Formats: sequence, C-alpha cells, structure tokens
Amino acid sequence: METKTVRGTGVVPGYAYAPVGWVHQPYVPSVTTTSMLDEDARPAEVERFKAAVETVAGRFEERALLASGVSAEVLGATAALARDRGWARAATKLINSGQKAEPAVAGAIANFVEKFEKLGGLMAERTTDLKDIRNRVVAELMGLPEPGVPKPTTPIVLCAEDLAPADTAGLDPTFIRALVTRLGGPTSHTAIIARQLGIPCIVAASALDTVNEGTLVLVDGTSGVITLDPNEIEAKELVEADARLRAEIRAWSGPAQTSDGVHVQLLANVQDGPAAAKASKSEAEGVGLFRTELCFLTAQTEPSTKEQARIYGEVFSAFPGQKVVVRTLDAGSDKPVPFANHAEEENPALGVRGIRLGWTNPGLVDRQLDAIQLAAEDNGVERPWVMAPMVGTVDEAYEFAQKCRERDLWPGIMVEVPAVAMLAEQFLDEVEFFSIGTNDLTQYTMAADRMSSDLAMLTDPWQPAVLRLVQLTAAAGIKKNKPVGVCGEAAADPLLACVLIGLGITSLSMASGAIPAVGVQLSKVTLEQCQQAAVQVAQARNSRDAKNLAAELLG
Ligand code: PEP
Ligand code: MG
Repeated sequence: METKTVRGTGVVPGYAYAPVGWVHQPYVPSVTTTSMLDEDARPAEVERFKAAVETVAGRFEERALLASGVSAEVLGATAALARDRGWARAATKLINSGQKAEPAVAGAIANFVEKFEKLGGLMAERTTDLKDIRNRVVAELMGLPEPGVPKPTTPIVLCAEDLAPADTAGLDPTFIRALVTRLGGPTSHTAIIARQLGIPCIVAASALDTVNEGTLVLVDGTSGVITLDPNEIEAKELVEADARLRAEIRAWSGPAQTSDGVHVQLLANVQDGPAAAKASKSEAEGVGLFRTELCFLTAQTEPSTKEQARIYGEVFSAFPGQKVVVRTLDAGSDKPVPFANHAEEENPALGVRGIRLGWTNPGLVDRQLDAIQLAAEDNGVERPWVMAPMVGTVDEAYEFAQKCRERDLWPGIMVEVPAVAMLAEQFLDEVEFFSIGTNDLTQYTMAADRMSSDLAMLTDPWQPAVLRLVQLTAAAGIKKNKPVGVCGEAAADPLLACVLIGLGITSLSMASGAIPAVGVQLSKVTLEQCQQAAVQVAQARNSRDAKNLAAELLG
C-alpha cells in the first residue's frame, strides 16, 4: 500500500508519532434571527438547550478531575460558570420568545459579555470564559466537534488552520508532541512557540485539511513531511532516536564549540527587561538582538529619554559585562509603534520603517541614541553595541555611525536589504559590525511577504539566493576583519546554524530556548565540515535540496 504524505515547511526539527488532534474553529451564530419557533416547539427547544449546557459543563468537570492544581481550579470554575443560572435564564427567555437555541445562546452571552466588560477588572477577564462556553454549547447544539484547542490526556499531534498566541498559552508538551498548521510561515507565532516548547513544528501544510482527526501520523520537523499511517516500528525508532537527542539537548551546557574546539558565540534575542532576565539564566553569552520597538507597541507618546534609558538599562543589567546589541526602533510594517509610525501606506513592508522613520520624524533616532547612551552610563557599560534596522544605503550607514560615535556607542547595522549584502565591503568601511536579519533579508530577496502563509516556501531562509547573500556579507566581514552575526530565525535552526558558521558568520542570536539545540548540533561537526558543507549548500538549486544536502553532510 502506498504511504500518503502531506508536505509543509519544517520549522522546528524533530520527530513525533501520535494521532492527530484538530483545533476546531468555533461557529458563532448571529444573535438576530428571522425564523421564529412555533409556540408548542419552544419547551422542547429549552430542554435541548439545557441538555447541551449540561454536556458542556460535565466535560469541564471531567477534565477538572483529571487535572491538578491551578488547572483543576480553573476548569472547575468554568464548569460552574457554564451552569450559572443568570445566563441560562436569559437564554431560556429568548427561546421562550421564539428564538432557536443557537442564536439565544449567542444573544444571552453577548449581553453578559457587554455587562462584564463595563464592570472591568476581574469580571472583564471572565468574558473569555463566557465566549468559550458559548462556542462549546453552540457546537454541541449543532452536532459539531468541540471548538478550540483540545486538552488531551494522551499524546497528540496538534493540527490547526493557524494558532493565535492565546491558543498556544499553556500547551503541555507532555501531550502535545508536535504542532502542524495549514497556514503560518517560518517566522510565525506557531514556530516561535514550538521552539520554546522544544517540540517539532511544520507550517504551511496546505493539504492538512485532508488529514482526519485521530489519524496516526509521523511528523518530521526537518523535512516538513507528515506521513499518514506510517510503518509503526520505523516511526517509533525515529521518535526514540529523537528523544535521545532531546535528552542530549537538555543536558547541554555552553559555551558552544565545534567538535574540533572552535568557539561559537551564541546570543539571545530579547524584547525587554524581563525577557533579558530570563535569557540571562540560559546559556546565552549575551544579547545579539534587543528589539527595542517591542517595548513600545502600545505607547501613544514617545517616552522621555530618561524613561527609555530605564527600560534599556534593565536589559544591560541582566547581562553585566557581556555583549548586548541594542537595535534602534524597527517600527512600522508588522510592528506598528503608535508614537513613531508613519501615516497609512500602500505597502508598509516596503515603506517608511526602521531607520527610515528618521526621515519623517527628525530627532527620533537621536533621542533614542541619547537614551541608550544614558542607560549605558547608568549601568557602567562601556561603548555598547548599537545597530540600525532597514538600512539600504552607505550614506545612511555613515550618518548613523556618526551619531553613534558622537555618543561613544559602537555602531553597526542590520543586513536586511539585499543592497547591503551587494555592497557589504563599502558598508563595513562605515560601521564596526553587521547583524544579518534573515527574516527580512529573505522577504526582500525573494519578494515574498514574510507574513503570507501561501509564500512560506519562498520565505524559507534555506533559499540558495539568500545563502549566497549571507556568503557575500560574511566574506566582506572576513576581508575587513569585522564581526558579522545572524539574528534572524535562521540562526535557531541547528543545521542551518552550522551552514552559517561555515559561511563565515561569527555569532548567532536566537530565542534563548533554541540555544541548546544549536549548541548540540555544533558540537557534532568540525569547522571544516561546516565550511565544506556551506560551499555546497550555497550552490543548491532550491531550498529543499539545500536542506537535504546539509542534513546529509552535517546531520
Ligand atoms: C530579521 O529581519 O531577521 C530580524 C531579526 O528582524 P525582525 O524579525 O525584528 O524584523
Ligand atoms: Mg527585520
């Protein structure tokens, strides 16, 4: 019998073998209805409603019994809320006035949500639970599968259209063995969460909807292949080998080095003080990318120099005496910062974003550099590393470096625009270091929106054209004797990390949770192996060949 496979883009390596559990989208009926129930049908409709509520509340209770601690309390409280007489009375009243049960549930809950939101505080927080109860009761009434993320008690491969941050909070890797989504891309939230949980992940598996709930699948997070009903013995062997690798990853301690003892600097990507504090407990040797814009996603007015300095200082103080690379605001496009953003644009990813904001908002960059200087002084950091995002011309690099040097800051730039890779040597005459942002470099090289799941095959940093640009950039760094790091998601892919080091990259920065897996992979290969593999991989015809070749030569 031929084995059926579904393909996507592998974004977190590893194997998993378990039945599929789907995240079902909720169906929310309209609260207004045109068809009215006959009077004599209404009592039966009330009974149908009550039975659905009872089933949903009972399921919450069953789960509460299986759970422990806070989870058990939360599930118990949700069961009680489902049985709450107040909303049940409101829904019953609507049914008795002629509505069918589904719109009556939607209408009754909508009223309560509005009231709770007005009350604010703890009451407002219950609205998420109320909506969840509504979705489950409606699904029960309509004979649809339970919506939302399943809470399994045995292992599953979690499959979804896409996952929102709220869906992924509290996922338990004991039971969720892999994440597979039909949408999403290599830099999507799903990929980031899977990496943190240390479970394999595949995104953009467009035919995933053909895989039914309960089907046994083998997930290969490296190749992006999902095999349906695979050979059980082979699948289990692969998963066991993977479990041994995971144990090795958990036991790994830095600093990272290749098997022939060449040190590789592994750094953390952070977005604020708390994230830096967490990263400081990992094996990170410093911070390779501090995304300052993420501190201000809700700030309507520009924080004062002092306030900014306090925020940046939290990151410096988490890594005393270690390297911390601060990136100036990369506001715009997918990261709008209210106080810094440019007006509506047709094409924001190609618009006024990053360093370009200084063109329309004079002084923005200067004030931020003042704040970084102040934070460095307050925390005893001598000449901190500071880099600008989205630089495209040598003049921009020159001006930015001037501003940094005036403030005793060590200037660098991100390599995200292909133009910089093409003229890398000239840029390096102006600045002290490069950090390659492979997320944007891939987006701009392949002319493919990094947010688009339809284009995930193109926004893959294994694209040989992207690797060639990295190669050009790294070669310029070697020639000018200046460091060239990578801080995009590519650095967190263990195999690609080896290829990057082989291309001449001098440091890798990633989510701190990804560091041990990269460290283990580097410890299994020599620098020469990385260099030889890199030359061949950069010559590949397409991203799949590049990945397979690297797996063959370095895996
Ligand atoms: C990048 O583009 O690779 C990068 C690290 O920057 P960001 O993801 O914040 O755009
Ligand atoms: Mg970027």
